[in-house]
Amino acid sequence: MPGRGADAGTAAGRHPVSEAAPASEADLSAQERERILAKAALFAPPPATLPDGRRDLVGLSREELAAEMVAIGEKPFRANQLWHWIYHQGVTDFAAMPTIAKPMQAKLAERFVVGRPEVTAEQTSEDTTRKWLFRWRDGQQVETVYIPDRQEDRGAVCISTQVGCTLSCTFCHTGTQKLVRNLGTAEIVGQFMAARDSYGEWPSPKDGTPRLLSNIVVMGMGEPLYNYEATAKALKIIMDHEGIGLSRRRITLSTSGVVPMMDRCGQELGVGLAVSLHAVTNELRNEIVPLNRNYPIEELLAACRRYPGASNARRITFEYVMLRGVNDSEAEARELVRLLKGIPAKVNLIPFNPWPGSPYLTSRTEQVQRFADIVMDAGYSSPIRRPRGRDILAACGQLKTESERARKKAGPA
Ligand code: SF4
Repeated sequence: MPGRGADAGTAAGRHPVSEAAPASEADLSAQERERILAKAALFAPPPATLPDGRRDLVGLSREELAAEMVAIGEKPFRANQLWHWIYHQGVTDFAAMPTIAKPMQAKLAERFVVGRPEVTAEQTSEDTTRKWLFRWRDGQQVETVYIPDRQEDRGAVCISTQVGCTLSCTFCHTGTQKLVRNLGTAEIVGQFMAARDSYGEWPSPKDGTPRLLSNIVVMGMGEPLYNYEATAKALKIIMDHEGIGLSRRRITLSTSGVVPMMDRCGQELGVGLAVSLHAVTNELRNEIVPLNRNYPIEELLAACRRYPGASNARRITFEYVMLRGVNDSEAEARELVRLLKGIPAKVNLIPFNPWPGSPYLTSRTEQVQRFADIVMDAGYSSPIRRPRGRDILAACGQLKTESERARKKAGPA
């Protein structure tokens, strides 16, 4: 079993013992949040400035964009025009922004860029799932996937928040890649924008108009709540009504259970929550999702119970990867039902997608069905996720590994 990730900390580290008055639970959570945010800062991305000194405007908040305009002697309202062109129209060239006068366009182009990641690889599966490997200015790469709905003209973009991951979940290929750094806001928003470029879905469809890239799942490489600030800022940009304008109802953030950040995520963003559960006992979950040693199942489920906005109309999704003979018994299905009592929940059953060297086998189809039936009979929706994109290195992190292997083999450019 891989060791616990470098960021996971220790139980002792989580609860510093004070000789004086004991700290309250709220104080401990606040301290823990600070520790997590401080750790995230250690893995900060490089500055969003090109070698020639121009700054990338993608990823700035409206206020920051207005401040940039003021800094170059322009009126702050220019920020609204730029926001429209960058996030509503998807334009990357200042010369293609006709509401901005030509001299101003030139001035902007001297100082700024509207960035996009470089597409290192793009693969489209037989089932139309599309996967990109995006490269950033410092050469780091992450994966982004578009998963179209089979029945309708819509689909979800699965975006990454870190290069690598600290958490070493044993079923996850990305967990074999050490954390290199966090992604910046521009890089998180940029994945969605580049995916829309790929499908030509600009300008942003108006409210109520169908969108091909209709949903976002923050479920790619990395643990988003270990890169909370950049992730939250990116999602706020994506949700802004005058830009991309994707509703919070169409965004789901998936966590492996960073309990101290879950409340903040619900309060500030109000996006849907998915929890990588994968086991019903602490003993097994400690092994499969090592973060469980910090935040055991009871604490995790308590955080789910108080997650703002969770309701029967807005259920929390529990992800459960089906590993043959490990976590897929009928007794475990019944225990899962018991644990979820009182939580507006839905359970996504995910047949394990093996990758080279993975220690698990996929559960047998009949076993997955039996498990699903027990959960369903207890009143919880329990869809079985159909494998997508199996022909295109679909396990999260696999395309990045293969691409890097090929580059090493080819030698220096
Ligand atoms: S499942 Fe998520 S949190 Fe766990 S190792 Fe993979 S990317 Fe990291």
